[in-house]
Amino acid sequence: MRYSESFIYTLKEDQKEAAIVSHNLLLRGGFISKLASGIYNYLPLGLRVIRKVSEIVREEMNAAGALEILMAAIQPAELWIESGRWNDYGKELLRIKDRGDRDFVFGPTHEEVVTDIVRKYAKSYKDLPFNLYQIQTKFRDEVRPRFGLMRGREFIMKDAYSFDADENGMDISYLKMRDAYYNIFRRCGLAFRSVEADTGSIGGKDSEEFMVLSKTGEDEIVVCDKCDYSANVERAESITKDEKGEELKLKKVETPNKQTIKDVCEFLNADERFSAKALVYKNEEGKIFCFFIEGDDELNEIKAARVTGSVELVMLSDEELKDAGLEKGYIGPINFPNKDIEVICDKRLENRNNLVVGANEEGYHYIGAKLHRDFECDKIADLREVKENELCPRCKQGKLKRIRGIEVGHIFKLGLKYSKAMKAEFLDKNGKTQPFYMGCYGIGIGRTAQAAIEQNHDEKGIIWPISIAPFEIEIVSLDTRDDGIRYYCDMLYDDMINNGFDVLYDERDERAGVKLNDMDLIGIPIRVVVGKKNFHSNKVEVSLRKNRDEKELVDIDAVFEYVMNLREQLYKELENIREA
Ligand code: ATP
Ligand code: MG
Repeated sequence: MRYSESFIYTLKEDQKEAAIVSHNLLLRGGFISKLASGIYNYLPLGLRVIRKVSEIVREEMNAAGALEILMAAIQPAELWIESGRWNDYGKELLRIKDRGDRDFVFGPTHEEVVTDIVRKYAKSYKDLPFNLYQIQTKFRDEVRPRFGLMRGREFIMKDAYSFDADENGMDISYLKMRDAYYNIFRRCGLAFRSVEADTGSIGGKDSEEFMVLSKTGEDEIVVCDKCDYSANVERAESITKDEKGEELKLKKVETPNKQTIKDVCEFLNADERFSAKALVYKNEEGKIFCFFIEGDDELNEIKAARVTGSVELVMLSDEELKDAGLEKGYIGPINFPNKDIEVICDKRLENRNNLVVGANEEGYHYIGAKLHRDFECDKIADLREVKENELCPRCKQGKLKRIRGIEVGHIFKLGLKYSKAMKAEFLDKNGKTQPFYMGCYGIGIGRTAQAAIEQNHDEKGIIWPISIAPFEIEIVSLDTRDDGIRYYCDMLYDDMINNGFDVLYDERDERAGVKLNDMDLIGIPIRVVVGKKNFHSNKVEVSLRKNRDEKELVDIDAVFEYVMNLREQLYKELENIREA
């Protein structure tokens, strides 16, 4: 594409709304333009990147035997009522009405629709297995849309759904997708890791997320420094060396004006680890839960939501605590004052022989409390966040580290969740009716593209991996009024275009500085600069975006070959990327 015929508008200034560098660079480079909160237009450069990522995804999905379809974006509410998610999905689901007052949703995901398609057509074990996928626009009314394409409300996703006759088949389909995902993210030039994950509102059993490692990632991952254990903090466990402590007699003590567990423990000269603090939440239905965890632990809200079967948990306000009959700062599990509240203890509390706990009375705590001796609870579960340096639950030797990542892909074994709820069944070999075993597999196309920027940029701009760059090669003519240079550049450009390469040709009548800065911002991997001085000694300058300091002067006749070799080399390097 000739720059003068393009629709590229770069911006000099950093964009205030962008909290992370990749968002800023997408806006400044003229890749995307904002329409509304979490809703973006893709401009020509942005669309080229989206297309490249989509094409890699498509190739790998096809290679894994998946079949491309395109489902409707608007879905009737009946299907969501049938699956139970009309209620369960919560406020992220964009609900709309047609002129006849009938309910629809703008699809945030397509389990219901694909299950509906399959139950209409596939009736026999002979039809199985198969995997249907699409690349399509989704809508999720996110609470906090931010970071550009990373967490949009409208975004492009690849979603695939596998159907099998039995559990074993589902496991095989899942592994095929897992392999395809490794190929996809490697080909996109990303440093990534797959981690054990929570299954969230989509439901199901096993699930893994593909995380692009980045300091600005919204997800936290726990990894072992010795073995390959890695898990989202929402799911991670650890081994902690727990001292049980001395068994003491239960005793009520005065703790005047001591509201936080830290203050209480300091006042009583007790170790915070030997205390239980209360955290009180309500879910989307208004049901209240009281969680007790050790004083120096943090509650993981996703774990807490899973344990209680809630979509969303919100902490109770001081007023709501009062209304529920709870004494802020002094809530304890012994004689818990409200029978309607479910009380859940973290399983670590079972290890302690003596605990400091609130006495449900202003100014008082108990010391020496012991679970199962002095109090019981409705449930015991893993509720806490794993901390750095705790022991790995898999190899039991390595130390756990916490790092951040961007979730670009997610694979799940759904099992029978949707096929049972929606009666999607086939006849097995014995003529018996059976529900399908399903899996589902998502990739955020825009999020993947933006994650690549988050990992590959410098102070001047983007450094695209060649496989997803809007153009592979740029030709910058610094002297557009020189006939010889124009003739040469036109020829080189035509040659490359005719050979099927992606080239951006900057033949604008602009200052050299402006052109070179624009090109650095846009981040095209290979650059050919044609300027008077070199050209008159029959040379042009070739460099890579990632190594701007290493500029090579290449004979004008050898440029085509030279650039082709560089291009091939850049693609080869992607093949060698290993999981981070
Ligand atoms: P998250 O925890 O980040 O909200 P999710 O678990 O809701 O993600 P899935 O339902 O598994 O996401 O969707 C599959 C993929 O779609 C994700 O791995 C991610 O790459 C992408 N994705 C999900 N939500 C968004 C969004 N709001 N904006 C852009 N991409 C998204
Ligand atoms: Mg989500």
